[in-house]
Amino acid sequence: MDEKILVTRSSMPPYEEYIEAIKPLWETHWLTNMGTYHWQLEEELKRYLDVSELSLMVNGHMALELAIQSFGFPQDAEVITTPFTFISSTHAIVRNRLKPVFCDIKPSDGTIDEEKIEDLITEHTVAIIPVHVYGNICNIERIQEIADKYNLKVIYDAAHAFGVKYKGKGIGGFGDASAFSFHATKMFNTIEGGAVTFSDHKIYEKLYNLKNFGIHGEELVTEVGANAKMNEFSAIMGLCNLKHLGAALARRKEIYDFYRKEISEMKGISLLSENRDATKNYAYFPILIEDSYESSRDEAFERLRENNVFARKYFYPLTADQACFKNKYRNADIANARKLSKQVLIIPMYEELGLDQAERIVGLLKDIGRRKK
Ligand SMILES: *Cc1c(COP(=O)(O)O)cnc(C)c1O
Repeated sequence: MDEKILVTRSSMPPYEEYIEAIKPLWETHWLTNMGTYHWQLEEELKRYLDVSELSLMVNGHMALELAIQSFGFPQDAEVITTPFTFISSTHAIVRNRLKPVFCDIKPSDGTIDEEKIEDLITEHTVAIIPVHVYGNICNIERIQEIADKYNLKVIYDAAHAFGVKYKGKGIGGFGDASAFSFHATKMFNTIEGGAVTFSDHKIYEKLYNLKNFGIHGEELVTEVGANAKMNEFSAIMGLCNLKHLGAALARRKEIYDFYRKEISEMKGISLLSENRDATKNYAYFPILIEDSYESSRDEAFERLRENNVFARKYFYPLTADQACFKNKYRNADIANARKLSKQVLIIPMYEELGLDQAERIVGLLKDIGRRKK
């Protein structure tokens, strides 16, 4: 049996480098609560992501949840969002006591269909929460135009869009705020971690407060905050991983280019379209199984698994169809999202994936598409 290939594998710096980097913690005994490395990582990430403001968080979910909370929307207000995402995006809305209103996506790239947003706006709508899914950038200009017209906030789930630039600007600088994830499975990780980026400095103080229990001074608590601070071991992991990101990206690009070349010619498999105005971070490689492929998506998934290749059905089912949300909220027609979620497979992509392994995966896809079992 060939070796097991998972969909991703966490990036880690050389062992000695990390051990050396965490040594000072044994002198200071300062392990969390906005330590030296927390500040250093905030500064370095602002530079890398090309944003003016950034607040580190304990994970991507809390980044999104607190970003939403920071705007103080009234309870039960409506938020227009996409169901084609990780469950965290919808949880963050509902845990803020807001109502998600699911908007369909574009089959071309999986992002929210901006032309369907306006029809869903009511007097209760307060925000649009789109997702740059797989690092594909939403139609930022059109979404901003709609938000301006109806006085709505725009908060991006940018968990997949680390390092992406749009028209030469850091993606985290668009809209009112963006939430990034630095989870171990993401292309840049701090083990667990995340950040909110934005342009208005007032949000920085608000988030600082919210991620530290709402504590404002030694004897004053002003908000119902959470504990979402990043610890020093995570911040150091981030500082180390950041140093190797250039090399990691080069490796990812090599695999991405190979996949793209091989798979774009394969009968029955199609790929999502790429935005020429945005850079790529090579975080994921989604493929779409068409009717003309010899196996269904689920059969392909199983066959890969039998051959020790563990692809993932991201994102299936839609968040709107999960047990906790099903039939609870106003749904627009989300037929494109349903269709894409039944076609998509994410195939393995990480910096240490060898080209020989990528070749094996491509070979399997050719084989599975050629004949019935
Ligand atoms: C990973 C992810 C999150 C949550 O991030 P965590 O760091 O795992 O909490 C949110 N949204 C999307 C789209 C994600 O992929």
